[in-house]
Amino acid sequence: MNDLGAGDEGTAERQMRFLYALRSKGVTDARVLSAMERIDRGLFVRGLFAERAYEDMPLPIACGQTISQPSVVGLMTQSLNVGPRDTVLEVGTGSGYQAAILACLARRVYTVDRHRRLVREAEAVFRSLSLPNIIAQTTDGCYGLPDQAPFDRILVTAAAEDPPSPLLAQLKIGGIMIVPVGQSDAVQSLIRVTRLTTGFDYEELRPVRFVPLVEGLGQE
Ligand code: SAH
Repeated sequence: MNDLGAGDEGTAERQMRFLYALRSKGVTDARVLSAMERIDRGLFVRGLFAERAYEDMPLPIACGQTISQPSVVGLMTQSLNVGPRDTVLEVGTGSGYQAAILACLARRVYTVDRHRRLVREAEAVFRSLSLPNIIAQTTDGCYGLPDQAPFDRILVTAAAEDPPSPLLAQLKIGGIMIVPVGQSDAVQSLIRVTRLTTGFDYEELRPVRFVPLVEGLGQE
């Protein structure tokens, strides 16, 4: 048996399978795929579930939250249609995985979470990946980040009953927001909101399941 290079071959093969699964679920945008090729999901999952990081499934992270399924991350990112000059707000940092992918596509990414611990841990991964264009902050994302607004793109990765109005107000004209909408335990719909010169256009994209958007800061 020849062990030489076996580890490398395993990594390349795993990567190929990961990207193949994304494409087969409809993630076809070349920029999104190359960002997802660059950002190793294994860095964002700790402990027991780390070995499942390359499977297309959501996994538990700290504070009772979840890292989203990679194909859902890919489809949401694709629907957000991020350009290299865009400033993006993500509500729901969680593990930081989604923010890291956005950071490969946008000029600047602000990401917020109500759990201080998640923000701290995600920041450490951003540093290890040399992603200086992500600014992470502990705050209640229901109110957005008024000081940094308006945003070209807003991505909410927790389910709201309705798109929060402060977030709608912080979207530029022509800007896009993707948000899962619905009751926490029922099936939710992923909605794409586009801000028009007057008013908003709403488009339903697909059924999804996210943890709920909760008001106020978390315990840890
Ligand atoms: N995007 C994450 C997954 C998000 S899970 C990733 O890539 O891993 C949803 C996250 O939304 C959780 O971490 C939860 O703490 C956060 N959250 C829920 N309500 C919030 C609120 N009001 N403000 C900020 N973050 C919130």
